[in-house]
Amino acid sequence: MSTSSDHEVSVKEEIDNVFMGKPHVLLLGAGASKAALPSRDKNGKPVPILRELATELNIFKYFPDDLVELSKSDFESAYSQLFNRGKSKSLDEVDNIVSNYFSNLELPEETNLYDLLHLCLREKDVIATFNWDPFLMQSRIRLCKLGVTKFPKLFFLHGNVRVGYCSKDKVSGLVGVRCKTCGSFFQPSKLLYPVENKNYQDGDFIQREWKAIRYFLKGCFMLTIFGYSAPKTDHEAIKLLKEGWGDVEERNMEQTDIINRPGSDHETLRQTWDNFIHTHHYDIYDSFYESFLAKHPRRSGEAYWNQYYEAKFISDNPVPTYITDLRKLVDWFKPLLDVEKNKQ
Ligand SMILES: [Zn+2]
Repeated sequence: MSTSSDHEVSVKEEIDNVFMGKPHVLLLGAGASKAALPSRDKNGKPVPILRELATELNIFKYFPDDLVELSKSDFESAYSQLFNRGKSKSLDEVDNIVSNYFSNLELPEETNLYDLLHLCLREKDVIATFNWDPFLMQSRIRLCKLGVTKFPKLFFLHGNVRVGYCSKDKVSGLVGVRCKTCGSFFQPSKLLYPVENKNYQDGDFIQREWKAIRYFLKGCFMLTIFGYSAPKTDHEAIKLLKEGWGDVEERNMEQTDIINRPGSDHETLRQTWDNFIHTHHYDIYDSFYESFLAKHPRRSGEAYWNQYYEAKFISDNPVPTYITDLRKLVDWFKPLLDVEKNKQ
């Protein structure tokens, strides 16, 4: 590795030196979609949070009389109770409306945080999301059209409206597209609702996603948790993530970064994620743009190595916040992408 000084790494040096093989794992919750689309989607449709779903989508009327009020104040609890009553017309209706609504949400034309998330990570890296919305897939499709060919791996921990699965060949693909092997259409993935006992061992798509995330968590050098507050209804999810991450005492230099909304209580967040934090190896940010990932796009692993193992002073190469044209954003990443191409 060539460096101008033994103790410093310039931006150019960070861009030019690609050597990290371990994955960076980015875990996304509803807060990430809220940060990406703080008010509405391309067509003016609100991006609702789960708690407000029943009023936002007007579906409280499909709940049985005794659950209508609860559904308005706490959709998650009301749904949980409805679900526990077994299969019903109400349950089907709520499922269909929610699924249709999320399917039709669209990213605005201009560059979006989701585009940045894709561009900041490399193929060895992983994005695992709890979100059903189609933004991650829409961003990937439009970046593909602009010539981006290398993407981080994606896993959908609670299912996704755009992602389907072929159970026979164990491959996933876009809903509405045919499986290349058997020719049948990918079946929409089941959306996992906020019920206490989610079925993560479905022997199908969801189980495969969880197996993958546990595998990558074991080997990652950094875990970034963005907009996921680990709600109590997700205790099973946290347990599985923890299984992947392992015992904090056995991790040694791994770093945990937490990105939450501005003004959130950092001490509470630290406590929430205590089982994922090795001693002082963590940072909490109020915005994605302040995070390690956004300051060392596509080189988070190299920057991490230089800073924590080599104890060097590293320069920041922050992602641009002023570019609204997607093509120009891809151009900004070109020097990084070119170095990676020449490495192969
Ligand atoms: Zn197939």
